[in-house]
Amino acid sequence: MYQGLGVSPGVAIGAVYVHDSKIENELVEYDIADQDMPAEIERFLAALDQTRDQIKEIRKRVSVERGVEYASIFDVQLHLIEDQITIDEVIEGIRSRKKNAEYVFYQVVSRPLRIIAGSEDEFFSERHTDIGDIMRRMLRNLMQRKEVDFSDMPFATVVVAHDISPSDTAAMEKSKILGFATDVGGPTSHTAIMARSMGIPAVVGLHKISESVEKADQVIIDGNRGLVIVNPEEETLNRYNNEIFRIRAYEDKLQEIRALPAETEDRHKIILAANIEFPDELETVLSHGAEGIGLFRTEFLYMNRADLPDEDEQFEAYKRVLEGVTPHAVIIRTFDLGGDKFISHLDIPFEMNPFMGWRAIRLSLERSDLFKIQLRAILRAGVYGKMKLMFPMVTSIDEVKSALEIVEEAKQELEQEGVQYSDDFEVGAMIETPSAAMTADILAEEVDFFSIGTNDLIQYTLAVERGNDKIAHLYQPCHPAVLRLVKKVIDEAHKKNVWVGMCGEMASESTMVLILLGMGLDELSVSPTMVPKIKKVIRSASYKKAIEFTSEILQLTEYDDIKRRATEVLAKIVPSEE
Ligand code: PEP
Ligand code: MG
Repeated sequence: MYQGLGVSPGVAIGAVYVHDSKIENELVEYDIADQDMPAEIERFLAALDQTRDQIKEIRKRVSVERGVEYASIFDVQLHLIEDQITIDEVIEGIRSRKKNAEYVFYQVVSRPLRIIAGSEDEFFSERHTDIGDIMRRMLRNLMQRKEVDFSDMPFATVVVAHDISPSDTAAMEKSKILGFATDVGGPTSHTAIMARSMGIPAVVGLHKISESVEKADQVIIDGNRGLVIVNPEEETLNRYNNEIFRIRAYEDKLQEIRALPAETEDRHKIILAANIEFPDELETVLSHGAEGIGLFRTEFLYMNRADLPDEDEQFEAYKRVLEGVTPHAVIIRTFDLGGDKFISHLDIPFEMNPFMGWRAIRLSLERSDLFKIQLRAILRAGVYGKMKLMFPMVTSIDEVKSALEIVEEAKQELEQEGVQYSDDFEVGAMIETPSAAMTADILAEEVDFFSIGTNDLIQYTLAVERGNDKIAHLYQPCHPAVLRLVKKVIDEAHKKNVWVGMCGEMASESTMVLILLGMGLDELSVSPTMVPKIKKVIRSASYKKAIEFTSEILQLTEYDDIKRRATEVLAKIVPSEE
C-alpha cells in the first residue's frame, strides 16, 4: 500500500497502464565528422521546427477540445523551445564537441532539469514537467521515433507515471482512464487539475510508485484517503468493490434531489453553490445541482503559461461562466496570486514565508495595472449574468477601500471608451485572516457580503500551515478558536445586513454542515462533486435543532469532543452518509 496525497476524490479499481516516456534511456552518442557538421546542425534546426509545429498543432486541438485555458499550458513549451540561448548553446556544442545533435541537446537541457529535480517547490516541479516534456518531444523527433502513443492503452485503466505532462494528457483517450497515480505532484499539479475536471480519482506524491508497479497489475486508487493499493488481497478488493457500489448507489439516490433547493425540513433555505478553478468545470457544477458559483478562483487563468492573460481572454472566460450558470450568481474572486499560487512572470521575489507575503490583494493593489485589466474584464463580463465581485486575503478596511477605488477607475475608463459594463453588482470580502474576522463589523460597512475562506483562516488562526503533512493533525476545522471566529463573523455581518457564505473546504465537510447552519450561514460553496452530499445533509436537518446543537457545540472546549458530537449527530440525521 502506498500513501500519497489524494488530490481528486473517488475510488477506482483497474489495470495499471505504466506510462514511461523516458526516451533519454535510448539515447546514443556518436562522433560527427567536420564535413558533416553543417548537415548535423541543419538536422537539429529541422527537429526544432518539427517540434514547434507539433506543439502548435496540439495547442490548437486542446483549445477546441478543452478550452483556451488548458491550451495556454503549451505556450510555456513554445517559449522554452524558442529560447535562443539554449539553441545557440546546442549549435556551439555540436561544433566544439563534434557530437551528434540529440546527445548535445540532452546534455544542455538536462542540466537545468537535474537542478530542479526533487525540488519540493510546486512551481519548480511544474517547470520540471514542462522542460522534461519538451525535451523528450525534441529527442523523439531527432531520433525519428513516434510521438508518445497511447493507442495500446486498454479500457478501464489506471495510469501510473512518474508525472503526467500536458502533452501526455492531450494525447490520451480520456474515456479509457479510471484514475491517476503519480510519483510527484501537488494539489495544483497538472495531474490533479486534470483529474478533478474529469471527475476521476487521483493520488500524487507517491514517490516511487511508477517503478514499483508493472503493466496489468491490479490497483485500487483511493482518492479520498490518498491511498494506492497494488494487487490487493481478495478481502481488500471486496471491501473496495463494496465501497464503489455503495458510493454509486448513494450518488444515484442523490440525483433525486439534484434539482431541489438546499432547504431544511422546517423550510430554512440557504444557497448551496460550487467552487471552480476553470470554466470547463461548469458542466460538473450544473450536473451536480449547484445553485451558482460561490468561488471562481481566477488565478488558475494565470498559471502554467509563459505570459499573462489579456483583458479579452479573461473576459471570454468570465462571460462563459456567467452565461453558463444564469440565472444563478457567480462570485468572481480577483486573483489570489502569490503564496501557494506562484507564477514566474510577475517577479514575485523569493520569500521565506510566502503565505504571509506579497500576495493576493496586497499584490493587486501594488500591481494595479494588472488588477485593472482583470477588473475591466470582470466588469465587462458582468453584463452577461449575475456577477458578484470578491477580494481575497483582506486584512484591513483600507485595502477594501483602495480596491474599490480601482474598481471605480476601471468603470470610468470603460464608460469613457463607450464599452458596455455592469454597474449593478454586489461586492464582497473574503474572510480568511484572523484580522478580517475580528474586524468584520468594520469591513461590513464597505461590502455587501463576506465569504469565509477557512482553508486560510484555519492556517492563520491555528498557526498550522495548510499543506504541511507533519502537522496535518493540528489543522482542525472545529477547533473552538475557529468556530468562535466563524460565529463572530456571521453575527457581526448580520447586524449590518451583510450576508455570509463559506467557500473554504470546511463547507464541504458533512460533519460541519449542521454547525454552520445553526450559526446562520447564508451560503455554502463546495467542490462541485460534493454538492449532492451536502444538499442531502441540509435537506435532512431541522434548522431549529441545528441552532440548539450549535449552542451545545460552542460550549465544548476540546476538539475531540466537538468532532465526536458532530459525527454522532450527523449519523443520526443521515444514517447512510458515506
Ligand atoms: C480559502 O482560503 O479558504 C479559500 C477558499 O481560498 P484558497 O483555497 O483559494 O486559498
Ligand atoms: Mg484562501
